[in-house]
Amino acid sequence: MRKIEIKEGPKLEDYQAYSSLRGTVDSFLENVPKYVDRLRGRTIWMINSTATGGGVAEMVPSQMRIMRAMGVSIEWMVIETDEVAFFNITKRIHNAIHGSGDGHYTEADREPYESVNRKNLEGALEVIQDGDVVVIHDPQPMPLARMIKEHRKVSCVWRCHIGLDESNETTRGVWGFLKLYFDDYDHFVFSLKEYVLPEIAGRTSLIPPAIDPLSHKNRTLQMHKCLSILVQAGLIDSREPRLYNAYKHQVRRVMPDGSFGQVNRPDDFQLIYRPVITEISRWDRLKGFKELMEAFVYMKETNARRTDTDALDYKRIRMSRLVLGGPDPLFVTDDPEGAQVLKELIAYYQTLDPEIQQDVALMLLPLDNPKENALIVNALQRYSVIVVQNSIQEGFGLTATEAMWKQTPVLVSGAAGLKFQVAHGETGSINEDPTDIPRLAAAMEYMLSHQKELDKWGFNAQTRVVERFTLFSQIESWLELLSSV
Ligand code: UDP
Repeated sequence: MRKIEIKEGPKLEDYQAYSSLRGTVDSFLENVPKYVDRLRGRTIWMINSTATGGGVAEMVPSQMRIMRAMGVSIEWMVIETDEVAFFNITKRIHNAIHGSGDGHYTEADREPYESVNRKNLEGALEVIQDGDVVVIHDPQPMPLARMIKEHRKVSCVWRCHIGLDESNETTRGVWGFLKLYFDDYDHFVFSLKEYVLPEIAGRTSLIPPAIDPLSHKNRTLQMHKCLSILVQAGLIDSREPRLYNAYKHQVRRVMPDGSFGQVNRPDDFQLIYRPVITEISRWDRLKGFKELMEAFVYMKETNARRTDTDALDYKRIRMSRLVLGGPDPLFVTDDPEGAQVLKELIAYYQTLDPEIQQDVALMLLPLDNPKENALIVNALQRYSVIVVQNSIQEGFGLTATEAMWKQTPVLVSGAAGLKFQVAHGETGSINEDPTDIPRLAAAMEYMLSHQKELDKWGFNAQTRVVERFTLFSQIESWLELLSSV
């Protein structure tokens, strides 16, 4: 078990200084002290499986910072292991909750699952005291609640960030396996009501995820700053004088021969001169990267058959480029499936026509420096003409929220978490079936050809995020819940 220290960050008054956030912060400051009073003398322990990458690691530090500023004692720990059997079973569980893969689990699967958690128990017991509240995130550390409760009088909450809005054999199988742990929890938190299981509905709260508008991932970047980050990260080639040094690790790009090279060698990717469509996610089959690449190729091929080659729409599509961004495997050692998915994407990329290969970039984003990684994602989301989140399944999809906050028009699939955020034709576009390649291609083509409409969607999207998905409403719900368990 490893305790994670968080860095200093924006203060409450920094958020209040933004007029669009002031109302939310003011009502937060009015409502929250009564919950904080009830929590006095108790520490809240957040426990998950990783301190970097993915939605949970993204949200916890900002939540902690604000809660601490309000006087709450809150800490963060991650479970540690290098056992491949544990990664395999927990990844299977993760996929199965999304309805994907096989739903057959045996007691033998419990062995690596529970033994890794038991090895982390000692570290937890060194710090957790009677009376504390333990919040366990996602399935990986789920068995820990019972183990902790055998030694400490604590309340436990299970926060599940994933889910599927229907049940099938796979989901029934996995929930059958996880059911054993339900009684160890006093309360449950899910992102959407569609994900809640009937047997725990009476003990469940709904708290959608949220973004921190002032984090490095989301803070405003003036145009020159945005460009400067893209230059520092190696995404734009520039011989102009620079204010800042290049990042130690640059973004890398998959080459036609499958190797990893520089983004602008041998040819310049021309990021700043092209309409760029972007999806940034972990290398996960459920993120729909391959289907997006296929649809992009389909759109280009359809466009190539047009005869009105003087039309601006024709030229815009011809010039467009696709960026698929995800973690550089150099910095990720604990995601064997992610490495496999990236390999599959590279294999598909290698089958493409050389001309299309120039228009598609599989980009590997460095993770050695979380601030730099966040700024690169921020700049790319801001710079893109469309941010796509083509997930086959998506618990929520912070990547969409992040783009919406930045007024970048989004194109999302009909996965439940994404549909919860986006209203079609109002705050973005929904292409229901992420595997329907012609329709996905048509949705991109429509967006590239209706710039004015997109401006409206982007504007509305930011308002939606301010109203529903910033961290203050989320923390208020958490404090209300935690002070009552
Ligand atoms: N992310 C990142 N760098 C990457 C890929 C993803 O910072 O190379 C971030 C992304 O910006 C978002 C989070 O990881 O904040 C992913 O959260 P989301 O809810 O979209 O999906 P999850 O990974 O939790 O399934």
